[in-house]
Amino acid sequence: MIGVAVLGSTGSIGESTLDVLARHPDRFRVVALAGNKNAAKLAQQVIRWRPDYAVLADESALGEFKERIAHAGITTRVLAGESGLSEVASLPETHYVMAAIVGAAGLHSTFAAVRAGKRLLLANKESLVMAGPLLISAAQASGATLLPVDSEHSAIFQCLPANTRAGETPKGVRRVLLTASGGPFLDWPIEKLAACTPEEACAHPNWVMGRKISVDSATLMNKGLELIEASLLFGLDPAQIEVLVHRQSIVHSLVEYIDGSVLAQLGSPDMRTPIAYALAWPERLGSGVEFLDLIRAARLEFCAPDLERFRCLALAQAAARAGGLQPAILNAANEIAVQAFLERRLNFLDIAGVSEAVLARMTGGPARGGLLRGLSDVLGADAEARQLACELIPTRHAMERGAHA
Ligand code: NDP
Ligand code: MG
Repeated sequence: MIGVAVLGSTGSIGESTLDVLARHPDRFRVVALAGNKNAAKLAQQVIRWRPDYAVLADESALGEFKERIAHAGITTRVLAGESGLSEVASLPETHYVMAAIVGAAGLHSTFAAVRAGKRLLLANKESLVMAGPLLISAAQASGATLLPVDSEHSAIFQCLPANTRAGETPKGVRRVLLTASGGPFLDWPIEKLAACTPEEACAHPNWVMGRKISVDSATLMNKGLELIEASLLFGLDPAQIEVLVHRQSIVHSLVEYIDGSVLAQLGSPDMRTPIAYALAWPERLGSGVEFLDLIRAARLEFCAPDLERFRCLALAQAAARAGGLQPAILNAANEIAVQAFLERRLNFLDIAGVSEAVLARMTGGPARGGLLRGLSDVLGADAEARQLACELIPTRHAMERGAHA
């Protein structure tokens, strides 16, 4: 039996992972489940799965959680905080770690899994964007296997030669074509975007996801983070990665080889396919996903992204080129700006504005990234960028005063 720790089990990827695991009880055992503060959902999952361990990152939710599982007579060991996440990621009985925490909060547990030599199923793209070169060299040192869960990266990985390892440039590849659905605002006039609401931004046409990645998909920052992710995972120059808008979300990405061949991976837009692939690799597993009906789909369209409308993508392309700490700075500023947008403290277009201003202040220009020598550099840049972004975002009070003026 393969022991699996699902970090971020209460989220969208976490739930899809449990759905796939439930189809293969003969093969996988859930060793640990972990969330942040959704005590009710984590308790429900723990009662269903009876894992050895459960972790709540936010200690304030611990009382409610313990009460809920005590009622059900559950003996699962309960841990808390970031140390609890890292502990379950490194247990000897944990063979695979699903890293599905959202944002920089997933960084330490992702590193813990890699240092302990686990198979890391990486959904938490932010940790790779922040500290990719360190994560990849830690995996090489420990013998950990790093497998992408992001659908585009899973697609690329599936189109690469079978012996491809994270961080190594595959032979014969000319370019990677990274597809983007374009999000809910693909056809909106730019003047309307400033007034869009969090509900509109989170109403993705093809995918049901957590709120942060939904907003990132609407700004195309998600595609920018994915470009950085792809260049690190597959050892490619950012110039070798072209973003293609493909509104049907059926072709999940493509690899172009030097002989003119282009390989693509297609499928229904359902994260259970890349999750099942990372769980089963190099084999295949049933995932419960609806099989693709190309006759019903009928059309597959592709076009170039509009970098003026989606400035976040242009910012991420520049950060990918600069390297160093720029991706970490961009990621941190974006996380703060997205949170402020979700709390209605910032308008949609200012997500790019805040990210750009933080990058400009901290790096003094698009070509300067700052050196990424170790995790402390990353954590320092992350903290500084968050602080700066917070200072740049008007308080709710100031926004209301402005609205009434
Ligand atoms: P969700 O918002 O649905 O879930 C996030 C999970 O992270 C929840 O379990 C949440 O716990 C937990 N969490 C939040 N903050 C913390 C914290 N500080 N410490 C520990 N745990 C925390 O996000 P998604 O599932 O959509 O996304 C997860 C990751 O996967 C992201 O990095 C995203 O970019 C990536 N991804 C997602 C895709 C998707 O289709 N959803 C596709 C490709 C990548 P709680 O519920 O208690 O708040
Ligand atoms: Mg993706």
